[in-house]
Amino acid sequence: MKKLSVIVPCYNEAEVLPAFYDEITKVLDSLYGYSVELLFVNDGSRDETQNIIESFATRDERVKYISFSRNFGKEAAMLAGLENCTGDYAGFIDADLQHSPDLIPEMLKAVDEDGYDIAACRRVDREGEAKLKSFLSDGFYKIVNSITDTHIDDGAQDYRIMNRNVIDSILSIKENVRFTKGIFSWVGFNTKWFPHHNRERAAGETKWSLVKLLKYAIDGIIGYTSTPLRFPLYTGILSLIAGFVYTVVLIITAIVSGGSLALGVAAVIDAVVIVGGLILLSIGIAGEYLSRIYTEVKGRPKYLVAKTNCKK
Ligand code: UDP
Ligand code: MG
Repeated sequence: MKKLSVIVPCYNEAEVLPAFYDEITKVLDSLYGYSVELLFVNDGSRDETQNIIESFATRDERVKYISFSRNFGKEAAMLAGLENCTGDYAGFIDADLQHSPDLIPEMLKAVDEDGYDIAACRRVDREGEAKLKSFLSDGFYKIVNSITDTHIDDGAQDYRIMNRNVIDSILSIKENVRFTKGIFSWVGFNTKWFPHHNRERAAGETKWSLVKLLKYAIDGIIGYTSTPLRFPLYTGILSLIAGFVYTVVLIITAIVSGGSLALGVAAVIDAVVIVGGLILLSIGIAGEYLSRIYTEVKGRPKYLVAKTNCKK
């Protein structure tokens, strides 16, 4: 019998977990011919999340859990799930019921019977999402896609099911600062897309603050492309050309006006501020990459497990 592992990253989801468990087990119970593993990854929650998961585990042997020593982020939680799952197929689903579990049977059929490697959901609307978040996220994908070769689908969600080959491919990527959406698109494979209407969060609130999202976006861009590193090169060339033209203009003006050059102090200050800004920005970009190299070289574990019932 083939096995499906459903990986659920959870961070302070105590309010919604009981409803989630009811809904997902209804769907999982209806899957005939498959064995199932429901793998909760508790990403350092400070509420009752861990106790609730353990209470599921005592009455349902399909329930497995990995509990982190602190909050390592959703990316680390998804990685831990993939590293510890035992299924022939593995899927991610959010704990907040924004991803409707009803789609699982269809997605499973796509990878098991229809020959796809991945069945993934694509958001068709942004209902239940803050306007500012939609706006910023649109901008982010536009930037990423205009400076990288691989296309990251704007609406692509983490809600997906993949086969063993894809799981192992993702696990073969060892980098520390992980941007899963980029990794999904980088590994490729034959993907069937399912249109998916975002539901409202069933309970609790989003774990993504604007600052967290901004950090995520920077991680995404830096981790995914080295194009920004060329920024100093391009602006340097432009600045040199501009400087050269300006010199010629100055010389001509000097000749025409008979040698007396009235240089506006304001113009000088302006130039200093602009060039200073460009230099700082360039150093900043290089610094971002340097810090990523530093993190990778240290080679720290991507997460630490405090408690688990996974045997692997
Ligand atoms: N999550 C996590 N670690 C974090 C933040 C979020 O494991 O540091 C989980 C969270 O419990 C949920 C999923 O990731 O199951 C999506 O988070 P959320 O619903 O807060 O994000 P949104 O849907 O608002 O993008
Ligand atoms: Mg959510």
